[in-house]
Amino acid sequence: MRLRNTLLLLTLAGGISAILVAQQQEQVDLNVIHKLKVAELGGGGGRGGPPTPPGGTPPGSKIMDIMWNLTDRYGPRLTNSPQFEAAGAWAVSQLKEWGLSNVALEKWSTKDVPSGAIPGWQVTGYSGAMVEPTYMPIIGVPVAWTKGTGGPLTAEVALATINSPTDMDKYHGKLKGKIVFTSAIPDLTFPTTPLASRYTPEQLADLTPDVINVPGAGRGGGGRGGAALANMTPEERTAFQEKQRSFFRDEGAVMTVQADPRGQSGTLFGGGAARQGDPTQNIPQVSITAEHYNRIARLVEHNVPVKLTFDIKTEFTPNTDSFNVVAEIPGTTKPNEVVMVGGHFDSWHYATGATDNAAGSAVAMEVMRLLKTQNLKMARTVRMALWGGEEEGLLGSAAYVKAPFADPAVMKLTPEHNNFAGYFNIDNGTGRIRGIYLQGNEMMRPVFETWFAALKDLTPGVITIRDTGGTDHQSFDRVGLPGFQFIQDPMDYNTRTHHSNMDTYDRIQAADLEQMAVIEAAFVYNAATRPDKLPRKELPPPTPAGGRGGRGGRGAAAPTAGN
Ligand SMILES: [Zn+2]
Repeated sequence: MRLRNTLLLLTLAGGISAILVAQQQEQVDLNVIHKLKVAELGGGGGRGGPPTPPGGTPPGSKIMDIMWNLTDRYGPRLTNSPQFEAAGAWAVSQLKEWGLSNVALEKWSTKDVPSGAIPGWQVTGYSGAMVEPTYMPIIGVPVAWTKGTGGPLTAEVALATINSPTDMDKYHGKLKGKIVFTSAIPDLTFPTTPLASRYTPEQLADLTPDVINVPGAGRGGGGRGGAALANMTPEERTAFQEKQRSFFRDEGAVMTVQADPRGQSGTLFGGGAARQGDPTQNIPQVSITAEHYNRIARLVEHNVPVKLTFDIKTEFTPNTDSFNVVAEIPGTTKPNEVVMVGGHFDSWHYATGATDNAAGSAVAMEVMRLLKTQNLKMARTVRMALWGGEEEGLLGSAAYVKAPFADPAVMKLTPEHNNFAGYFNIDNGTGRIRGIYLQGNEMMRPVFETWFAALKDLTPGVITIRDTGGTDHQSFDRVGLPGFQFIQDPMDYNTRTHHSNMDTYDRIQAADLEQMAVIEAAFVYNAATRPDKLPRKELPPPTPAGGRGGRGGRGAAAPTAGN
């Protein structure tokens, strides 16, 4: 406690001198910032203005209109699904209507993705129920890239959680013809914390005292998998995971069912099945809400025979090409230099991907609309990119960065790399911006302090040296380009919406999105007009594995950091 206070004082003292330096160097056009605030928050509408019209779009801001299109109208946006494509087409037409330049769906291929190509896939039918010993409808959603049941399927339930090779031996020969419950039984403890929250001043203060970070320090643990996996050599683990993937199918299970302890009260969480080999042969797999899972599991544990019936229809389409949505406002005097803004466009299919990440996409689109309609002159080109394939491992942004900027595997730089100013990302849900992660780039602290000073009415502007992971700014950071994600209020992202069947329009807080749009627009404007590009960290060495492909450490970030 004492040590922390000392550090805080040192940090405050450092902060004050940094502001003095920054005030000499960093200029902010307060007229422009004011214009952006009025355009998004004012204009006779917004909070405190005339009543918001039906549909939640105040005059001025268009952000909830964008949200509605991305969620209710076109969502979900599972990468390469028909809905993803329809939403992409809508975004292009909307961006063109606003008069933006070079609007396009930029194609990239998922064919050679190590985790498997991403086919088009959608659910076209689902029903599920317990039929013995009594009837109970089951709240569930089929897991991505699994096949359907080929008509109604009724079978008995078996419980089999596989965490080690010994578990496989234990269940060998016992699962044929069964609907297998594969998750450890969720322990639904009495909830004592609120479902949704904002950062307290104390929690925000806890983010600030850190000094420049040591790479890799404070990273999160290895995630699930248990002790057995941790004790294996990498080769053993790969072999085990390969076998784990096909175990239930090879044993003749007709279907698998899973649940997550966070997925209760009608909520369920899910991801996707493996895509290696032929995903059209993945047996039907359903994620269900924990209370239903547990009732069935308890019946089976009490030796009461349980029969379930499911009728699931899914459709695969062969196209494995994906896209990023791009749009630009050309720079006036330095058009070759680029500032980027974005977030991922794709979602999971359990709901409509509202907080993850229609929110970040809507904010980025609104930033472009604001900058364009205010007719602001910016020296550098401002380019928006809404990424595909983020949920499968930051694939769209990684493919994008590799082409014009640098391949992390070889780090051979291009003129475009030299001309890049910075990238701003939003992907931590609907919570308003409370600050920014420096991503280890201490040189940006005085710059961001000055930028936030002009936005004090909207945010405390907390600046932390910490990294945050799990989203697309990392694709830029990996090749030495300045890429940043904002600190956002947690809200109910981790408890209810992130990858859940309740990630819907209703969970979006309009005032938070509007606040984000103003702040991100101001940051993009500042980056596009300041005399120099943003200062950079040392170039990272080449990473032969191609930059790890997936999402990196979450641990050091705020507890909400997610993707
Ligand atoms: Zn996300």
